[in-house]
Amino acid sequence: MTPANNTGGPAPRTPRLPALAVLLTVMLAFFANAARADCLESPYPDVRSLEALGVQDPKKALEAITTALAAAQKSAPADKGHVAALYALAARSYSLLELDADARAAASTGLQLAPESTDLTHLALQIAHAENIYEPAGIDSAITGIEKTRNLQAHGSRADVCLQITLGRLQYRRGRADLALLTLTQAYQASLSLAAAEPRVEAASALSPVMRVVGDFAQALALNQESIDWELQHHATLSLSVARYLRGQILSEMHDYKAAIEQIGQARKLSVELADEQGIGFADLATCEDRLSLGEIGAARDDCESALRIFSASHSADVIREAQTLLARVDLAEGHADRALATLTDVLSKGGADVQPRQLPGMYHVRAQANAALHKYGDAYRDLDEYLKRYVANVDAERAKQVAALRARFETDREIERNDSLQHQLELARERAERQRVQLRWVVVATTASGIVIALLTYLLIAHLRYRKQLVLLATRDSLTGLPNRGRMAAVATEALETAFATQEPLSVALIDLDHFKALNDLCGHATGDRVLKEFATLATASIRTTDTLGRWGGEEFLLVLPNTTLDTAVEMLDFIRRTVAQIELGRWDMRVSISAGLATSGQGAFSLDEILARADVALYKAKNSGRNLVCYAEESFQSASTGVRRALRQR
Ligand code: GH3
Ligand code: MG
Ligand code: MG
Repeated sequence: MTPANNTGGPAPRTPRLPALAVLLTVMLAFFANAARADCLESPYPDVRSLEALGVQDPKKALEAITTALAAAQKSAPADKGHVAALYALAARSYSLLELDADARAAASTGLQLAPESTDLTHLALQIAHAENIYEPAGIDSAITGIEKTRNLQAHGSRADVCLQITLGRLQYRRGRADLALLTLTQAYQASLSLAAAEPRVEAASALSPVMRVVGDFAQALALNQESIDWELQHHATLSLSVARYLRGQILSEMHDYKAAIEQIGQARKLSVELADEQGIGFADLATCEDRLSLGEIGAARDDCESALRIFSASHSADVIREAQTLLARVDLAEGHADRALATLTDVLSKGGADVQPRQLPGMYHVRAQANAALHKYGDAYRDLDEYLKRYVANVDAERAKQVAALRARFETDREIERNDSLQHQLELARERAERQRVQLRWVVVATTASGIVIALLTYLLIAHLRYRKQLVLLATRDSLTGLPNRGRMAAVATEALETAFATQEPLSVALIDLDHFKALNDLCGHATGDRVLKEFATLATASIRTTDTLGRWGGEEFLLVLPNTTLDTAVEMLDFIRRTVAQIELGRWDMRVSISAGLATSGQGAFSLDEILARADVALYKAKNSGRNLVCYAEESFQSASTGVRRALRQR
């Protein structure tokens, strides 16, 4: 069994017994790797049942594999894939027993029989081979190989996840806890969507020590618990012993020494069951340290001496040094500083070449304490200096790792956050699009509605204008002749009078009345009477200037306003009209249409409309009285008329 690393980086490996003949070695080997669930499942049923055995008892499994391999080689032709699968399982079993050279050899043999990168057996062999490499250059090339094979797998498939777990383990072993954290967190997350439990347990057991190294003890414990649960369920005693040992290590780092001792105690019990001496040795060593921390010095000595005995028998140098250092601490605690100093001087005799680098500063520190206790302050100072130098270097390296690991965690979290925020953004965009769609619909509705309203208003406005125009026309026009009506004529005449007064120009006004119109109606009918009125309007309008206005004053009576017109001109114009109306046809009726007109012209002074009309009316009366078909003018107007016209008029 391999103890987990205290400070991170590759898990320290204990020196192993040299590999002997397969079975003998298997029987003697007590160095168990962190045994785990099979991440990949073999396609061969008999290999699968051997896998189950391998989890419970790798030694027994190896015996069975050896037998199966011998049988397979006898039967010709051998099923290459089946033999390769047996080698894969053998490699795994060696690996569980920490026989990494044998594991690699078995994996290499198997790989020659299953060279296809997409073959599951090939993957199992590649993983078994890679996980049993410990020297840096080998790890690096294994990482490259695993990455290459990973690229050939479907993303998120079981094969992909298993390769990713191996990749994370190799990164961790290479001292890149930061990368391992990222890789294994992703693998763990991916394993959650797989149907099989084994990849998740594998990922959890690989990730737990990484979490411990980055100081996330709660996560490390939770992941460790997943392994323990699975191992209890599958009677994987060897792996369970390792998992409990690792749990003790986590608890110890959390300074919960009592709980740590309890877990390590359980691990030790399992190692005893398995006759795993190395496991017992590591359990005793860990318990010794925990008891020292609790001040249980006597019990600590017993544990440390037991561990030292076991490791000395197996010549495991670095753990022997570790046990010796702990015993020196026990000696110091018991007041045997001289014995402690002697032990530590022996431990450090090779300058730390045969100790775990992470243990070295602590060893100098303990020796400094021993020297100080013996009043050898110069030596104590030198040891303390060594301790500080190495401690600082370790701490710096540790801090750099912690920072990198934190960054990796941050990246993982950010990735999750980014996905969340992408999802959120997507939802927002969808909402925005929906809102815009609704808005657009409303805009279309509103635009259409306003279009309709505008059209309606325009129509109403136009209709209104037309109606107004009609109203105005109705209000100012005579419906029969189309001429301005009496109201309009009164306004036109008033305005013309004001203009005439303002400009001192002569204004002439005439009242025209159709003669014997009653008789015409009676004789020819009312319709002919209407036609005569209309024809008179047309003929008279054609005879006047644009500045003049002719209007219907009432019945068969018309008013003519002639601005800037002297009496002479007015007389001439009216006489022309008088002669013209004679053209109006009355058909078979022996009758002629004629008019009488009364004319008044404004003088120098101001005139009201009533005044000038009264004078025109007088003149008209005179025309009627004078026999009709005649133009007469008011007396005052006559004063201003020329002599020639007066003479002409008098002659008629
Ligand atoms: P005098 O020569 O003296 O003017 O005689 P008169 O018959 O023209 O005058 P009187 O005032 O006695 O009759 C006017 C007639 O004009 C009476 C009326 O029936 C007719 N008249 C008025 N307005 C209209 C109209 O719009 N259409 C028709 N057909 N006749 C109208
Ligand atoms: Mg009349
Ligand atoms: Mg008349």
